[in-house]
Amino acid sequence: MAVPRTWGTAPELMRQALPDARELEVHPGDTPDPVGEQQKSPLPWVVQKHADRVLLLLTKRCHMYCRYCFRADHQPGGSDDPTPAEWSRMLEFTKRSGASEVILSGGDPLAIRDEKLYSAIDGVRSGRAPVIRIHTRAPITWPSRVTAELVAGLAARAPVWVIVHCNHPAELTPAVREALGRLVDGGIPVLNQSVLLQGVNADPAVLAELCEALVALRVFPYYLHHPDAVPGNAHFRVSLEQGRAIYRELAGRVSGLALPRYVLDPPDGSGKRDV
Ligand code: SF4
Repeated sequence: MAVPRTWGTAPELMRQALPDARELEVHPGDTPDPVGEQQKSPLPWVVQKHADRVLLLLTKRCHMYCRYCFRADHQPGGSDDPTPAEWSRMLEFTKRSGASEVILSGGDPLAIRDEKLYSAIDGVRSGRAPVIRIHTRAPITWPSRVTAELVAGLAARAPVWVIVHCNHPAELTPAVREALGRLVDGGIPVLNQSVLLQGVNADPAVLAELCEALVALRVFPYYLHHPDAVPGNAHFRVSLEQGRAIYRELAGRVSGLALPRYVLDPPDGSGKRDV
């Protein structure tokens, strides 16, 4: 189990990365497909919940395997990446869909090589110009992945938006701040999504510090996700009542610019909605 070399050893960080015996417990409410992706998957490695957006899973690999992740059941096991034939079908589907936004996700799309990532973006773009969103935790868990070459490659393929995933202000180490700065300075819009996690950030003061630090780094705090009920992650979950109370207090502490939308993604696959 890899813990990012740039991370500190704060318990809030270790809990996200290290296995815990409580993952073996079975809890009421555990849902194998908590955000309804399987029913919205028209073919392997593709999820489409909305007519104007298509989500492509470029790999199952990540730089760090977060213990609460709703795609935890995707790792390990099976093939790590789409085969060339599967990739051709994914591209064909994406082009036919007419989607105006294509989300590259995984796994972590920055766990694949630059050339392969560029070829994915260029393939999706051929003949059309959808906005590309790259959902990645790499700038937080493996900031050296954000090289000057990668930033230039993404900037050359604008519009490309990068959506990072940071949960706690202690994750914003100097190396992470520099990586985020490289993206923003390179002209890449950067947004953040966090997951509300018991034992990590279920505290308005911690969230306020995180969101204000992100704004100072020119990263927009986009979403605060209610935790998904993945089997094995019950010790991370907060109730809706707890979540609402935390969010109300957060809203009283930070400016509108630093206030993310508090959303949940229900198991019926209908997509995110405000809590
Ligand atoms: S990096 Fe993202 S996809 Fe990978 S385990 Fe963590 S939350 Fe899940």
